[in-house]
Amino acid sequence: MRSVFSYIIHLWRPFVETLLPRYKTAEVEEMLPAKLKPRTLYIVSEDGFEEQAAMLCPCGCGCTLHMNLLADERPCWHVNRHKDGSASLHPSVWRKKDCRSHFWFRRGRVKWCHDLR
Ligand SMILES: [Zn+2]
Repeated sequence: MRSVFSYIIHLWRPFVETLLPRYKTAEVEEMLPAKLKPRTLYIVSEDGFEEQAAMLCPCGCGCTLHMNLLADERPCWHVNRHKDGSASLHPSVWRKKDCRSHFWFRRGRVKWCHDLR
């Protein structure tokens, strides 16, 4: 059962997100660093092909989210880069287990989906 406290945090997340800096985009070759920095979207390339995007889960649970970028594997995400250096992911990111975070990543910002849990 979710506590009242965590429910209030849940309601405030969209507001808190607007106060925080945008996510940085970090391009890395082949390997993710052992420890990911917060508010950073990593894009891992190998031989010039973007393989996966990764980030720490924005809910704060500490787990690393991996998004496949290879078109011949499913599920597959697209990364769009913007002139201001930020990035967007398509489609939304939805963890089906554990914290069940569901959000859109748009221009370096997390837009939470208000699905009922
Ligand atoms: Zn999480």
